Amino acid sequence: MKNSKYLIGIDIGGTDTKIGIIDSKGSIVAKTRTETLTKSSVQLLVKRVYSICHELAKNASIKWEDLLYIGIGMPGILDLINGSILFSPNIREWSGVPIVSIFQKEMKKICVLENDANAAAWGEKWAGAGKDSKLGSLIMITLGTGIGGGIILENKIWHGGKNGAGEFGHIVIETNGRVCGCGNYGCAEAYASATAVVKRYKEASDLTDDITAEDVFEEALNGNNIARKVMEETGMYIAILIVNIMHTLNPDVIVIGGGMAAAEELLAKPISDEVNKRIARFGTNSTKIVFGRLENDAGMIGAAGWARKTLEISV
Ligand SMILES: [Zn+2]
Repeated sequence: MKNSKYLIGIDIGGTDTKIGIIDSKGSIVAKTRTETLTKSSVQLLVKRVYSICHELAKNASIKWEDLLYIGIGMPGILDLINGSILFSPNIREWSGVPIVSIFQKEMKKICVLENDANAAAWGEKWAGAGKDSKLGSLIMITLGTGIGGGIILENKIWHGGKNGAGEFGHIVIETNGRVCGCGNYGCAEAYASATAVVKRYKEASDLTDDITAEDVFEEALNGNNIARKVMEETGMYIAILIVNIMHTLNPDVIVIGGGMAAAEELLAKPISDEVNKRIARFGTNSTKIVFGRLENDAGMIGAAGWARKTLEISV
């Protein structure tokens, strides 16, 4: 790809869709967001995205023909070969929709569809926290409402047999532990997701108010001992998850992303202390543990970069 060429990255979420023009190095040239409006047809979103992209390109003095490919990231179970949505829990209305062909028809550009967590991992690998990783293996753990993730091995996204790889939230970290939304017990998601942090804090402090994970972070930073302890324990749980991943894949980098990454100040030390304690006997483990750098833009940037990577390899 010549340096003068650009990509379009689209990250479709249950509420908002992020749209950006990305340059050849993975930097954002222009970006905006629009409501996804999942109750309406995909066509409506595509028409809106089309005019937004024209507007963004015009304002950035980029010619439409210099926008090479479109990468689309979205949550759910996707048919990546045929470019359609099989089932997306937050966008149920679009199950079965051939989203890639709808986008290609309207935008007149080649589109590549990817799961949003994988796209975010690729974004961090390409232009974020894993940028300097020479060996090409990176694992991203996305700690948000739930826990997901992406696996990059030998410079490629590892999808697994049925595109189900990277479900780190359902790795068991506590035998006979808390019940998880998936029906199993002791999953990481039941301890270290934003939802679980709120739940554990409310239980520990007998609180019934509606609070968010950010409130717990703030309490901890303000010296609330219960909140501090909850965050330290959360760091420990994340560390156990990380150690399991390190032993399985020995990646160059593990990136912690998602909303919980905002608590880096509270989590970084408990995570590294616990990881070091648990891998002390394994002298060969060289995995770097870092927090994400692209925040909410990782999926949009990564979707664009992955589109280029897959298309330019296959041409
Ligand atoms: Zn589970």
